Amino acid sequence: MSSKFKNIELQAPKLKYLSAYSAQIQLQVQQMIEQKNLDKYLLNKYPAIHEISNDKALRGYVMSLKNQYLKKSSPLSQIKYDDKIHIINNALGLHTYVSRVQGNKLKSKHEIRIGSLFKKAPESFLAMIVVHELAHLKEKEHNYS
Ligand SMILES: [Zn+2]
Repeated sequence: MSSKFKNIELQAPKLKYLSAYSAQIQLQVQQMIEQKNLDKYLLNKYPAIHEISNDKALRGYVMSLKNQYLKKSSPLSQIKYDDKIHIINNALGLHTYVSRVQGNKLKSKHEIRIGSLFKKAPESFLAMIVVHELAHLKEKEHNYS
């Protein structure tokens, strides 16, 4: 077989996590990836990595954000890093909940999982994903409007 069509496979993968951003931003990121400049750009912009490196620290971090902004929202039963969600669920973070009737009350149990790749990341990246998952305590579904 001729190697004429080989370069089809070399096309960069779609920027799946940036699909909601403008074409302009996506193009800029695409170019930085192609020119291998993205890591340099990000390290320059966000030089420090946070120290929230285990589940206990993550729980403290999430709870302090929750108490600051969403004090009256449902309690969280579990908060942890998960090293599989980006593969299995194709997600960076995950919010799950179960509701059940207890006596005459409807109780719900919420869990937040954060992709382990955020263990070594600038704090603003972690904050972004935590705030997103916390927002699901108020709004279960994604609103695409
Ligand atoms: Zn979400």
